[in-house]
Amino acid sequence: MSAHLASLQGRIAAACRDARRNTEDVTFIGVSKTRAAEDIRPLLAAGLRHFGENRVQEAADKWPALRAQYPDITLHAIGRLQSNKAASAVALFDVIHTLDRVKLADALSDEMQKQNRPLPCFIQVNTGDEKQKGGIAPDALEDFYAYCTKTRNINVTGLMCIPPADDIAALHFALLKKYAARLGLSALSMGMSADFESALRLGATHIRVGSALFSG
Ligand SMILES: *Cc1c(COP(=O)(O)O)cnc(C)c1O
Repeated sequence: MSAHLASLQGRIAAACRDARRNTEDVTFIGVSKTRAAEDIRPLLAAGLRHFGENRVQEAADKWPALRAQYPDITLHAIGRLQSNKAASAVALFDVIHTLDRVKLADALSDEMQKQNRPLPCFIQVNTGDEKQKGGIAPDALEDFYAYCTKTRNINVTGLMCIPPADDIAALHFALLKKYAARLGLSALSMGMSADFESALRLGATHIRVGSALFSG
């Protein structure tokens, strides 16, 4: 298990060297969705502290026990969030990557105030304009960003995308970087098992890696 972690850390270091970037500027998020606590423990023992989950209920079932043992973990919400789950999401997670619509911004902002947990958030952008996928449409991004930050006081730190499966991921990473630069945002949550090296070349600060971490 941690053999995969060591090999991924080597690949990240190499990609950062090629791009003349510091590895310290990259947050490696182990995507632990569908993985049992027994499979997560070796990664915790090896020192990994950032994890991503895509379902609130699953995270609620798995993480409180692990967190009791490792209080310094950071849990990232990377899946589509329903606004009626905002209360548990704000209580459980430390970073939200999938802020993508007004109703969710309202619900999260209300809960973050109520719980006094102003979580850093990424706005998810639907760079491929895919109907079935979450994310704000690129042409609505600027207004949505203003709404989140000015009207709702949300701490938006960056942008996130999931490129269409049948497209060249690098094109979407470059687009996301351009959108972030326009808004003056530096954090970029992009890159998964198949394409994190390309994402790192294009400025990813948060990569989300699941299958390559757990099954090589
Ligand atoms: C599952 C998932 C990942 C990890 O994907 P892998 O290809 O297994 O690395 C990353 N981001 C999101 C949003 C996911 O749902």
